[in-house]
Amino acid sequence: MEEWIEQLQNSVNTLDKLKEFINVSPEEEKAITTLHTKWGTTPYFASLMDPDDPNCPVRKQVIPSMKEKENRYGMHDYLLWKENRRNGEVRPDSIARQYYDRIAFTVTDTCANYCRHCFRKEIVVDHDLKLRFDVEEGLQWIREHKEIRDVLITGGDPFLFSDDKIEYIIKKLREIPHVEMIRFGTRIPIVLPHRITTGLKKALSGFHRIPIWVNTQCNHPKEITEKTARAVHDLLSCGVNVGNQAVLLKGINDDVETFRNLHQKLLTIRIRPYYVFCCEPAPGIDHFRTPLEKGAELIRDALRGHTTGLAQPIYVIATNIGKFG
Ligand code: SF4
Repeated sequence: MEEWIEQLQNSVNTLDKLKEFINVSPEEEKAITTLHTKWGTTPYFASLMDPDDPNCPVRKQVIPSMKEKENRYGMHDYLLWKENRRNGEVRPDSIARQYYDRIAFTVTDTCANYCRHCFRKEIVVDHDLKLRFDVEEGLQWIREHKEIRDVLITGGDPFLFSDDKIEYIIKKLREIPHVEMIRFGTRIPIVLPHRITTGLKKALSGFHRIPIWVNTQCNHPKEITEKTARAVHDLLSCGVNVGNQAVLLKGINDDVETFRNLHQKLLTIRIRPYYVFCCEPAPGIDHFRTPLEKGAELIRDALRGHTTGLAQPIYVIATNIGKFG
């Protein structure tokens, strides 16, 4: 069996399994046993957690918190608003649209790590919003919309699909004359680098007029290992570009030193920093949100003029009509 499948089969998603990795704090135990929420991660990502520090940045992204019950600023039905799901245009559930010429093709609600700060929590973690992830329906919609030149395949995590299914989606998109680029949004290089297998590389490889771009999400230097470096190198060797979309998270990466380290370390493993997202007003993630100006301050104080120009992401606020940076 391939190692990545084994990792998923041994997902750390119960209190007992978690206790094999860390000394669970009373607060963490209370949240796990009280909240009805999907959580879990790979044994690999769990092994990056500090066993004794509940403030470990990896722990905070993996383990539920009672603070998820507090919701002062989060918008009810956030994704309905953010993805323009009730504004008139009839689209399949799998197609989220904020722009004229590019869409997010949401193909799954499964992830290798159920990030506590996820703005798509309503789909992937809490399942308050039930969608039909019908790939064929989405492909047909894209075929019929000649203005769509850029398709972002997202989820959940699309790299959890089988090699054959990923290859099939790429092939079908490349057959559409107006599609000019394919992007994948995936946390796999960070939370399950074992997934970048020979089979996946075969599915992604080869020169084609329609390039593939991958954007991953790495939020703290601690998430970068030798395995991540190898996975990114393998993706690049397929002709796939790899960028990072970090989320600005209170208590995780909102200090100058961590923020600079993160962006410098990404470059050492060949990932180009692309975006830093202001933590979105999704429900149940207030405790991760910083003041709006924090991201701009960090770019000013940690990156601009302080390190190489390649390590300069754009700080953006995502809305239902696009991003503002
Ligand atoms: S991997 Fe992405 S979609 Fe899945 S929980 Fe994390 S942020 Fe959300």
